[in-house]
Amino acid sequence: HLPDFGLGSWPARRARINPDRTALVQADRTLTYAGLADRVARLAGALARLGVRPGDRVAYLGVNDITVFETLFATARCGAIFVPLNYRLSPTEIRYMLDDSGATVLVHSSDTADLVAEAGSLPEGVVVATDPADGELDFEAEIAAAGPPPETRVGLEDPCLLLYTSGTTGRPKAAVLTHGNLTWNTVNQLAHLDVLGTDKALCIAPLFHCVGLGQITLPTLFKGGSVEPVAKFDPGTILARIGEAGITSFSAVPTMLEMMWRHESWDATDLSSLTCVLYGGSPVAERVAQAWLDRGVKLLQGYGMTEAAPGVSMATHEGTLDHPVAAGVPHFFTDVAALGPDFTPEPLGGTPAELLVRGPHVFGGYWNRPEESKASFVDGDWFRTGDVVRVDDDGWAHVVDRVKDMIISGGENVYPAEVEAVAVRLDEVDACAVVGVPDDRWGEVGAAFVVVRPGAELDPAAFRAHLERHLARYKVPKHVRFTDALPRNATGKIRRVELRALAAETITNGTA
Ligand code: ATP
Ligand code: MG
Repeated sequence: HLPDFGLGSWPARRARINPDRTALVQADRTLTYAGLADRVARLAGALARLGVRPGDRVAYLGVNDITVFETLFATARCGAIFVPLNYRLSPTEIRYMLDDSGATVLVHSSDTADLVAEAGSLPEGVVVATDPADGELDFEAEIAAAGPPPETRVGLEDPCLLLYTSGTTGRPKAAVLTHGNLTWNTVNQLAHLDVLGTDKALCIAPLFHCVGLGQITLPTLFKGGSVEPVAKFDPGTILARIGEAGITSFSAVPTMLEMMWRHESWDATDLSSLTCVLYGGSPVAERVAQAWLDRGVKLLQGYGMTEAAPGVSMATHEGTLDHPVAAGVPHFFTDVAALGPDFTPEPLGGTPAELLVRGPHVFGGYWNRPEESKASFVDGDWFRTGDVVRVDDDGWAHVVDRVKDMIISGGENVYPAEVEAVAVRLDEVDACAVVGVPDDRWGEVGAAFVVVRPGAELDPAAFRAHLERHLARYKVPKHVRFTDALPRNATGKIRRVELRALAAETITNGTA
């Protein structure tokens, strides 16, 4: 028999070392590592009894809570593949993911009962719920009736997770992440971080997304620290919880950091227990990062993607003050390169280029998409990130923008992210997104969608003058639109596809 080194063995392995340490906390419920190991073994037995075999898919719909972790580890213990779904999607999108993944079991919480009902049943599978409707099985009853866990042996090469990408540039694709990918990402995060076994981490980023799961949550559990899943992000509640529970760390997306900084209780909140706050997933406004750093918090930007499980690079504890908005240096077991003109890897330098990534945490391909999987690698195992990155003199990475978002105006490359970063330096600007629209003269020009801070006033001429002061002329968007809000997805990413359609519909060659 091969030993089982899969994710599903983590709770029992930790329980052998620190059985009485707290693994998970949720309101008045706490689970020690021994308790978690026991629940996971029984749930694995229950899943096996429901017919789950190695390689089968177990989908999950629900907010962050202890049940997500139990189901993740139990599924892994069966050698099956966990498929956490985004509960903010429409029933049609959920239906697509259930069909695409071919899940035979769906576990859901009571919050998502309506979504599950609208998405439709599993044709050849069972639905398990913590608060079951007619025809659904009861989560606790299944655990109670379970036999022993299956005798499955899981290896690092076996798939563990189907994680859907955010769908920012197209339809979400499911990255197949192996037990090894997740383990190596954890090793990388720990090699970079000073995370300790005594940490108390909040899990506020959603667990169906790579930032929520991989950046600090799995590393903290690996280390034997405690994790407190948070069902719904509310900036005031999170700030209160940090002071009250002595929270040491959490992982967030930039919009969450901004909402907390802007909250009325920000100044009065005691942040002294925080030893590290990680974030990533989209660019951060300099003023937001600076506000956290000014409070003495070790704020570390991470850069990565679902396909890399997810960490590629991260700021360091000692360097973050000098590089407040940079994406840090590559992880310990991560190689980076630039995509050269003949589609071969070249050294990454000061000139922006598409980033290539290689490492034991990088996935092998997408689920059921052989063509796209093949097209995402060059020269063997170098993954094409689709992101334009440059490195500064200190060797720190800067994410310039996505290749697909670049605008070519009069033959010049314009990166919307650069324009947006300048735009939000104006106090009156809450948020800004720039997309390309066709133009007779320049081929393509920028159209800026600007959200003005409530109560503030800004006229388009003043906005344009500010951009012209800080940017070359060809980078200044030709069209400026004021709007109430930008369309965003569940992790705060701007839905540019929608903005592009809106711009194309309402702006035609010079008439705004
Ligand atoms: P899809 O691949 O479906 O179009 P997505 O790329 O947004 O969606 P994710 O895997 O969630 O899906 O996000 C990874 C992407 O997020 C990266 O490729 C990069 O473009 C962006 N990103 C991640 N971290 C950062 C960061 N620190 N700064 C800027 N952008 C980032
Ligand atoms: Mg992507």
